[in-house]
Amino acid sequence: MIGGGFRIPEVVEAAGARLVTVGTTNRTRPADYARAIERGDVAAILKVHRSNFSISGFTEETKLAELVELGGAHGVPVIHDLGSGLLMDSAALGLPYEPTPAESIAAGADLVAFSGDKLVGGPQAGVLAGTRKCVARARGHPLCRALRSDKVTLAGLEATLSLYRDPERARERIPALRMIGTPHGRLERRAEAVLAAVGSRGAGLRRALRAEVVATDSLVGGGTFPDARIPSAAISLGAGDKAEEWLARLRAHKPPVVARRRRGRLFLDLRTIAPEEDSVVAAALAALAASVS
Ligand SMILES: *Cc1c(COP(=O)(O)O)cnc(C)c1O
Repeated sequence: MIGGGFRIPEVVEAAGARLVTVGTTNRTRPADYARAIERGDVAAILKVHRSNFSISGFTEETKLAELVELGGAHGVPVIHDLGSGLLMDSAALGLPYEPTPAESIAAGADLVAFSGDKLVGGPQAGVLAGTRKCVARARGHPLCRALRSDKVTLAGLEATLSLYRDPERARERIPALRMIGTPHGRLERRAEAVLAAVGSRGAGLRRALRAEVVATDSLVGGGTFPDARIPSAAISLGAGDKAEEWLARLRAHKPPVVARRRRGRLFLDLRTIAPEEDSVVAAALAALAASVS
């Protein structure tokens, strides 16, 4: 299942392909693929990266290199759907290992698919990379006419990708990477500064919101890294049974501020707020405090 409730098997079948499943949920071996190929009618091997869930316990997974070897022996192309398409070493962002499109291509995948807007940090777009032959075949499919990107998307993607020539610059300039890479201490200091700004607008405002800075965890990539939690700092408000009302007031602020709710407390994770927006958050909190005190 991927974003918005779409299921990869249904996407594959909607494209007119027949899906042949191999192996079991926790254990899939090269021999499982080989059996399916030997039974005939396998046009391509598709490996989909588990981007938003993990399996633990007794697991066994066929490596991409093994599939490439198998595909090569039988003349069957290998497609690797990576989902998030991280374009740099995940360790540089403090994240657990995540395969990159370059690694898959180097391992011999004929086609690699990844999203332009997850960890790439660009516009919503699907990227297909790989051998000239396979890319040309995909490009020549009649559906490509309906799915093609417009020039605004292409311009945004090109601008984002060009930042990756210098990974250091990509980490600074691409908002998603900048947010992931910001150290926890800096977020904590910003959270304190925002609350100090709210307090300076009138005694008691901060108290009216029962506001405090708390330690929290950020999740990465809208769930694309299910096992990665990075320590963060949040402004927490004690809304009690007024949580829905406070959330609505924050959303009605111009520009709107969207908080996360856990029972009677609201949370604003500083990691997801750009530093230049701190003043907006302070103004929204001051307005909320004034309306509830
Ligand atoms: C997110 C995801 C997709 C779809 O990506 P888009 O953002 O819609 O291009 C496809 N496959 C996997 C494994 C994903 O995680």
